[in-house]
Amino acid sequence: MSADEYDFRDDDGVACPRCYGGGTVDCNCGGDLCVCENYGERDCPTCHGEGEVSSERHDRYCQSERDAHEAMRRIWEESK
Ligand SMILES: [Zn+2]
Ligand SMILES: [Zn+2]
Repeated sequence: MSADEYDFRDDDGVACPRCYGGGTVDCNCGGDLCVCENYGERDCPTCHGEGEVSSERHDRYCQSERDAHEAMRRIWEESK
């Protein structure tokens, strides 16, 4: 046995932190009234419906999540 046994896999394959691997997210585009054509669900914009993201993208998402929430809240306020 060598240290090589502990081999890192490719970065691909981390469960998407936004849709939790489901590949879809609530669109939340218009509150009770969905204005898109997906009836409340759409392909996850983080993983593009694949349910998996690279670990790099995962880290980046977690880092920007707070900013994204702030931006989304602002959009919600304006769209009321
Ligand atoms: Zn919608
Ligand atoms: Zn996703």
